[in-house]
Amino acid sequence: MISLSTKVEEIPKIGTAYAKRLKKFGIKTVQDLLFYFPARYDDFSEIISIRQARQRLGEVVCVQGQITEIENTNTFKKFMSLTETTIQDNSGEIKVIWFNQPYLAKSLKEDDFVCLAGKVSLYKEGVYLNNPSYERINEIGENEELTHTGRIVPVYSETRGITSRWLRYVIKPLLYRFCEQIPESLPQEIIKKYKFLPIQEAVWQLHFPDSFEHADAAKSRFSFEELFLIQLNVLKEKIKLMLKKAPACPMDADLMKSFTDYLPFQLTDSQKKCAFAILKDLEKTVPMSRLLEGDVGSGKTVVATMAALSVIKNDHQVAFMAPTEILAKQHFKTITELLKNFDVKIGMLTGKDARIFKDGEIFEVSKKSFNGDLENGQIDFAIGTHSLIQKGIEFKDLALVILDEQHRFGVEQRDHLIKNKKLVPHLLSMTATPIPRTLALTAYGDLDLSLIDEMPANRKKVKTIIVEPSQRKEAYAFIEKEVKECKGVFVIFPKIESNASKLKEIIEKNGPINGSFIPQNYSPISLSSLAINEVKALKEEYERLSKEVFPDLRITMLYGKMKPAEKERIMLDFKKGEIDILLSTSVVEVGVDVPRATIMMIEGAERFGLSQLHQFRGRVGRSDMQSYCFLFTTDPSQLNRKRLKAMIDCDDGFKLAEKDLEIRGPGSLYGTQQWGIPDMAMQGLTNIFLVEKTRTAAKELLEKDPELKNYPVLKERLKQFQTKIHFE
Ligand code: ADP
Ligand code: MG
Repeated sequence: MISLSTKVEEIPKIGTAYAKRLKKFGIKTVQDLLFYFPARYDDFSEIISIRQARQRLGEVVCVQGQITEIENTNTFKKFMSLTETTIQDNSGEIKVIWFNQPYLAKSLKEDDFVCLAGKVSLYKEGVYLNNPSYERINEIGENEELTHTGRIVPVYSETRGITSRWLRYVIKPLLYRFCEQIPESLPQEIIKKYKFLPIQEAVWQLHFPDSFEHADAAKSRFSFEELFLIQLNVLKEKIKLMLKKAPACPMDADLMKSFTDYLPFQLTDSQKKCAFAILKDLEKTVPMSRLLEGDVGSGKTVVATMAALSVIKNDHQVAFMAPTEILAKQHFKTITELLKNFDVKIGMLTGKDARIFKDGEIFEVSKKSFNGDLENGQIDFAIGTHSLIQKGIEFKDLALVILDEQHRFGVEQRDHLIKNKKLVPHLLSMTATPIPRTLALTAYGDLDLSLIDEMPANRKKVKTIIVEPSQRKEAYAFIEKEVKECKGVFVIFPKIESNASKLKEIIEKNGPINGSFIPQNYSPISLSSLAINEVKALKEEYERLSKEVFPDLRITMLYGKMKPAEKERIMLDFKKGEIDILLSTSVVEVGVDVPRATIMMIEGAERFGLSQLHQFRGRVGRSDMQSYCFLFTTDPSQLNRKRLKAMIDCDDGFKLAEKDLEIRGPGSLYGTQQWGIPDMAMQGLTNIFLVEKTRTAAKELLEKDPELKNYPVLKERLKQFQTKIHFE
């Protein structure tokens, strides 16, 4: 018995070969296939007479007619086969040409009636229909049900060996057979409230819509449903956490005052407000889940350190996790300095190193003794990379986890940290990525938000300049001048993917030159962008800068694959002023603090999203000196100019993120590509009204029925959904 859960390979039309290809889309069962929705539609719904069609040169038309003749010819030295036919109706006739579909002459015969949809094009002798979609019919003008022509036709995203035509051919009969078995997943009250199409009709209308209005109605139902599932998922996690207990850490106002008194600067009002919200959260037995957002340089580290100090003085431990070793080491240095007067035992653990700060001094220790110290509570404050949550690492009494530049940490991960202990730690997550409101309400909907929306007073606005290829020399001269004044320069070189097809294209156009495949007129930048691997490209650029452009300056490279110790040494040298120019891939993106750096120069700026460019820019302007951000671009397209111009006009990370969302779509937002959010939910993410609606609906439902006991279908869909998405 075939049913919705039957594997696709068991469907005779599909078989194992096609089933394998379908797997690439995650389609395994009949139900999956029915939920594989078209990416867009072709509107072939207006059928006109052949006479009318002949007058619509350049337009796509749909006609019906009878085949008067059909034949195959080979052409272009047999590179391509042509199938030529002529069709007629009682208004006239038109020639039809198909390319490379020789089997057509076998399946379509003289006197057959067909419905065709294609572009009216010009040929030597007159007009013809160019490579039309086709479908056999019984009779001209009869009201037959059509699939590939004569209607709004679904177009799916395709892969090798799976065409839209094939998908239509397979999906339609399955819809007839199984659509009525698809169980409704949305609660009836929601369908009623928002006047949604019931699921069976929505599935049908998405594949074979009666009109574009029907397709839109079906789409909005599924956009809603997918966002609704995300909301349910996130809110359920939140409820789960609320039922757990965390150690309460009462705040000691005098301690906090003496901490801020020791600082070499005054906290901004924003920092104070955020610190207060966090310290208040820590006093509760409900585990905190708070996201601290603040632009690069807004001073999140100090705020986090205050939270840590409060927890430590309540006799608990704190873990602070950074995304990279460089950052972990930088935080270790900063935090030991900030806490030097407070008698806190601080340790640092990365992939290779373990260090301890005790009595004003730093000691290298073995990992084993580090672990021992953590376990018996000799270390109050552990700073590190993900090494801190590896197997075999145990805390005596962990009460606060701080995450830098990573947003999420699920209930399971927290559980893992505490093993069998009763209390779960509080969580403070920090990010410089501005999260648009729609995302904050969905993917981060389980986190409370605090925002540092104010920069320390001594900062000057970074001047941003788009550098045209012709202005390169001037920009280099300016950089040289700045370096003479002991200022540091970052050069960011875009991450380069191997681009074999582009390379091939150029070779084909230009032929190998001097034994190498690079055409002479290529500038060094685009030359590098063809390179097969990132490090090689970076090295070429390094050669160019150090030999040709800045022979007198001290330039050093930094890239992801370097050993952590080496990276650390380079960062330190750069900080101390022993390196003038740091040429780097995007590894410096997050967090690194080098106050003497005043120039951020970005090659191939058009390759980066605005939020990312903004992050780079935040690496400079960390002192009271005037800083600059140079955006080098080789792509003159208007769209890119427009995007880059936004960088000049705007230095608000939130606005830039919104702009990215507007120009490049939700896929441009940090992390979203890895989440596996379905397309329709992605599109929904740009719609704040929809997001708020789904959030309210999810809340109401969970309040009524937290376990979704009365909604088994929804519960099952949620379960499937959870295996697909994974927020970070
Ligand atoms: P981010 O928010 O990007 O993590 P950091 O915490 O690294 O920023 O702070 C950036 C720099 O600003 C550090 O050198 C820090 O000491 C300094 N800083 C933090 N708060 C203030 C303040 N209120 N006034 C002046 N400088 C500050
Ligand atoms: Mg930081």
